[in-house]
Amino acid sequence: MRFRRAIVFLAFLCVPFSALAQEGIDLSKWVKPEFSGRPLEGLRVALDIGHNRLKPGAMSARGVPELSFNTATTRVMAGVLEKAGATVIVVNADGTVTSLAERPELATKEKADVFISIHHDSVNDKYLRKWTHAGVERDHADNFRGYSVFTSSKNAKPEVSRALALEVGSALYEAGLRPTLHHAEPIQGENRPLLDERTGVYEFSDLVVLKAAQLPAILLECGVIIHREEELLVQRPDYQDLIAHALVKALVEVFPAGKREKKGLMKLFGR
Ligand SMILES: [Zn+2]
Repeated sequence: MRFRRAIVFLAFLCVPFSALAQEGIDLSKWVKPEFSGRPLEGLRVALDIGHNRLKPGAMSARGVPELSFNTATTRVMAGVLEKAGATVIVVNADGTVTSLAERPELATKEKADVFISIHHDSVNDKYLRKWTHAGVERDHADNFRGYSVFTSSKNAKPEVSRALALEVGSALYEAGLRPTLHHAEPIQGENRPLLDERTGVYEFSDLVVLKAAQLPAILLECGVIIHREEELLVQRPDYQDLIAHALVKALVEVFPAGKREKKGLMKLFGR
């Protein structure tokens, strides 16, 4: 544990601050939404680590597969959510779940109240450029950076899912982060309707992991890892912690204490 902490600390020191100050990333404007007590007591949150060992997702600018980023960030989130009183169910903890539809099913089996799939982002191939890192030629794209949040109107609980997506987008924005809007570009593979341009919330009707879910579900892209600076940013413990605290804030808004039983939720959302 001590060794791991030392590595995390070293990684933190290696991030060039001057680089992060560019392109609108202003660390001095980060405002972590703190919580007191255990505001998520009684809530069961499923955190899904996106992708799996066989298909580890997008490749970062330095050649690290997305699954590694998803796993690291989810661990931090799980710790913060548990501190806030939530019971956390980590789906795909060992990276072996290959079926998309199975992920929310596993969450439902564990009686989760909400499902949040954790990912890191890439861009359309047309933006890729070559560079050499550690002696290896790799792809990168510095055009887009930022988080994005997805919800599906085909989800079994579309209103709650949409409400949560909007709250998460809003909490991240208010924490000082900025979204990427490249998923709205009218090209094949993107073209996603924006529900809120300012806070980076998209409708993605046929996203399987959301569409298949029988419980409220969203997907969060924590940052763009094909972007050379953002790849470093998303590995910072303070960035992961900031996102985790924004999640707590959003969950408290959508699942207020005292209204957490199914009955209360149905009443709250008129269904
Ligand atoms: Zn992904």
